[in-house]
Amino acid sequence: MNRSLLKRGVPVVVSGPSGAGKSTVCRELLAREPEMHFSVSCTTRPARPGETDGAAYYFLSRAQFEARLAADGFLEHAEVHGNYYGTPRSEVTAPISAGRDVLLDVDVQGARSLRHNLDAAVSGAPVFIFIAPPSLVVLEQRLRGRGTESEETIQRRLANARVEVTAWREYDFLVINDDVAAAVTRLQAILTAARCATSRQQWTPG
Ligand code: ADP
Ligand code: 5GP
Repeated sequence: MNRSLLKRGVPVVVSGPSGAGKSTVCRELLAREPEMHFSVSCTTRPARPGETDGAAYYFLSRAQFEARLAADGFLEHAEVHGNYYGTPRSEVTAPISAGRDVLLDVDVQGARSLRHNLDAAVSGAPVFIFIAPPSLVVLEQRLRGRGTESEETIQRRLANARVEVTAWREYDFLVINDDVAAAVTRLQAILTAARCATSRQQWTPG
């Protein structure tokens, strides 16, 4: 395919409850789609073991986050599980204008905000995908298996998950993360279809 025909990159927004496997499938999608840019969010939550600043997140203090918010540095932000999370404008607008697809992992509130303000910011016909676990029982097993949160945090995430899963119909696509490789193949298919949308093409039949 001649990529020069594509006007702008595709913003791909994924949401889903904590523990559904969003980070896992995003990592695998990026490995399969090396040209895709992952939008690195800012957060005030502490880094988990193995998380380095600037890879999964930029880790900020509450004061640093609030200063960036006051300077209108975020496309959207939300308080999730007691911490601030926000999408820096610079993570999305520049790559989309340069024709790169951008992957965003945000919570349900973040996706709702992006539905309203993403198009105005980047006019890139975004795609919204809900990543779900096969069941809430499996979700709890995955959260516990990850072993990165305290019992209190797990309980808070499970309570939020029961509310968040009811939002799946707000999305363009539902991908149930039963098997990682199969889920990522479905994400790639959605991305391929989005790239082919007529609204994204500049084509003059010769
Ligand atoms: P999220 O980013 O949605 O909070 P993670 O990607 O951290 O979720 O996944 C939560 C846990 O579940 C991790 O330990 C991960 O290895 C595991 N996991 C993710 N996807 C699957 C899957 N399809 N099958 C089994 N375990 C999975
Ligand atoms: P975690 O702490 O497990 O990495 O993420 C918790 C939740 O925050 C997830 O639902 C994730 O999608 C969401 N999240 C991560 N970055 C952002 C962001 O920039 N904005 C919003 N609104 N949510 C985010």
